[in-house]
Amino acid sequence: MSYTNETAAAANDWVWVADKENTFLKGQVESVSDDNKTYKVKIPELQNKVRSFKANDVHRCNPVQFDKCDDMASLTHLNEPSVVNNLQLRYQDDLIYTYSGLFLVAVNPYKRLNIYNKDFVKLYKNSTVNLNDTSNNSESDDDSSHLTRSSSVKPHIFATSEEAFQNLKTNKQDQSILVTGESGAGKTETTKKVIQYILQVSTSETNKAASICFENQILQANPILESFGNATTVRNLNSSRFGKFIKINILPASNELSGCHVDWYLLEKSRVVYQDSKERNYHVFYQFLKGASDSLLKEFDLNRSIYDYGYLKNTNHTIPGINDKAEFKLLDSAFDIMNFTDTDKKNVFKILAIILHLGNITFKSSSDSSRQAFLEEKSNKVIGTIAKLFGISDTAFKDSFMSSRVKAGRDIVKQQRTSSQAKFALDALAKSLYEMLFQYLVNKINDNFDVNAVDAFEESNSVGILDIAGFEIFEKNSFEQLCINYTNEKLQQFFNHHMFVLEQSEYLKEGISWQYIDFGQELKPTIELIEGSSSKKVSVFSILNEECVVPKGSDRSFLEKLHRELENKDKSADKSKEKFKANKIRDGFIIKHYAGEVDYNVDGWLDKNKDPLSNTIVELLSNSSSPFIQELFDERALQHSNVSDSPVKGGRNNKSAMFRTAAQRHKQELQDLMKQLDCTQPHFVRCILPNTNKRPAEFDKKLVLEQLRCNGVLEGIRIARSGYPNKMDFHTFAEIGS
Ligand code: ATP
Ligand code: MG
Repeated sequence: MSYTNETAAAANDWVWVADKENTFLKGQVESVSDDNKTYKVKIPELQNKVRSFKANDVHRCNPVQFDKCDDMASLTHLNEPSVVNNLQLRYQDDLIYTYSGLFLVAVNPYKRLNIYNKDFVKLYKNSTVNLNDTSNNSESDDDSSHLTRSSSVKPHIFATSEEAFQNLKTNKQDQSILVTGESGAGKTETTKKVIQYILQVSTSETNKAASICFENQILQANPILESFGNATTVRNLNSSRFGKFIKINILPASNELSGCHVDWYLLEKSRVVYQDSKERNYHVFYQFLKGASDSLLKEFDLNRSIYDYGYLKNTNHTIPGINDKAEFKLLDSAFDIMNFTDTDKKNVFKILAIILHLGNITFKSSSDSSRQAFLEEKSNKVIGTIAKLFGISDTAFKDSFMSSRVKAGRDIVKQQRTSSQAKFALDALAKSLYEMLFQYLVNKINDNFDVNAVDAFEESNSVGILDIAGFEIFEKNSFEQLCINYTNEKLQQFFNHHMFVLEQSEYLKEGISWQYIDFGQELKPTIELIEGSSSKKVSVFSILNEECVVPKGSDRSFLEKLHRELENKDKSADKSKEKFKANKIRDGFIIKHYAGEVDYNVDGWLDKNKDPLSNTIVELLSNSSSPFIQELFDERALQHSNVSDSPVKGGRNNKSAMFRTAAQRHKQELQDLMKQLDCTQPHFVRCILPNTNKRPAEFDKKLVLEQLRCNGVLEGIRIARSGYPNKMDFHTFAEIGS
């Protein structure tokens, strides 16, 4: 990336030069060609060899007084190598937090640092400074205060938390802290530190007992969410497989905690039935089988052997550093603290048991061309167990997945399924059940907070902490990556727009003329390409939704339609179409995201987008003799109102359709989130993965640079440089000048 208004180097200047092996190296300019396009640079690390570089690959080094600087926005020469180098030098000294303008950058230390104890809370408490108090801003007619981090304390997640807390109290405005980064970068750990800090500084002195109890409940939501929402992956032993937005309500005047609410996004439900090698299913399955009492397991016809369950047997059941049995105890006591009754807990475990049994139903295929499914002998017993736990009849249950009902003219006829169709129906049921269970748990946690919320005359404000996966570019990118990348486009747009608003208000205040550019607008074409808009009806999501309802719609017909409708063949001025490329060789399509081009493969997208549960099973379970199961499926039954087994009704032409596809649901949830964020004062944290070996003190420059390009930190610098990159208050300016 080249930066506008970056000053060019001259002979004898120290510079960073691009290098394949080392990402970049330091060198000294020997000479510059007459046209300023080529540089000859001597590189000490390569035995003082002199090499030629194009101007774009040469960036000036900063004077040594900037080494390990706290805020990279203050660097004289703001370029990629300088930013990475600064982070690396700081990381070597365990300075894992660094500012980059509006961002707090946090590099995962992969070791315990003694920087989160009570002394540190004390250090950061009341450390903010009021920007409106300083010198010559008195003409501003904005009467709200703007409290910002103080340069007298080192960058820290507590400083960002304090900034949010003080702004909430002073301006009575909701705050948000947006934490993103790739898997393993430290988002969830960072989120926990924010919560820890907010809870410690907000505990009320007048109502201490109630406050401590509430604080404890907020902390205990986490073990429940992590048991059910986290799993061991190649990248992270405790990877969150969902996004969350936790809002903590505070009464600004009394400092009292008054409520809490959790929203969740994009749970990876496919993990319940399938895991890549070296990965695990959700933690809770292992915790339950290892930690539950013998009698509880017996009640659900389970034993402790992980290898006896189809959905677990191919996974590693012991992970160094994870003690599932001890975690089960913690989960159980978290349930108690969150006021789950014994019946509630049993209901939760019952669903886990049903899912485990569902994975053990196996089939044979008939040898004729119909490939009709037959149950393996041992499956009959499993079906009996599941039917009993579900509170429905064996035959009705068996029928619900062994056959389907299809419309033939005006009649509904029964059709036997093949083995793979029957297996698909069972897996779909297991995945949906798990997602419904997750929703139930979050609802229960939220209800508990509602009941215990402080009833106050004073209105509360919240600090919302968003812990959501950053931009993903994998070898194979599917529907899940599109959803997460679309989310990140929206969050980046939110950041760019926020930065624009702040800059603009600065210039207005100072009466400086500037050509305003809202960089948020730059992301609009890509966002509209994915989600559509009132003026742009055809989008990736609209085509996907439509293919889910047309007869004989398939992944292939979806792809063909995408290519037909979104490819910019006529080179029209449609900015969205410029962001789309057909990839006919790899059966997919490419979207040009702000973070780079991503190649999507459409295998399985229709199934991922539809509600995979058939009406038969939903109707059956909503009439279960178990009140819990009945309740779980009742709402779902309302959404399905057609008798045929077509899973989805609706699409863009059927606005009255009650059921929503995964794309529709995510779009709506994201809209709600953005609406909430729009009303907050935001704070941005970018977590960085230093290496892929989970090792302390190892800093992979190339890996870090790629993340900075994707997570908006370098984009933030680009935007800052398009305005007036260096800002100085009048007194400092006068001092320097005199
Ligand atoms: P995912 O997207 O997979 O959920 P994540 O960004 O939430 O990843 P975390 O689970 O927060 O990543 O962090 C991964 C691991 O890194 C932690 O289990 C912990 O070992 C280590 N880690 C992260 N942040 C810190 C920190 N501040 N201090 C010490 N260790 C940390
Ligand atoms: Mg996480």
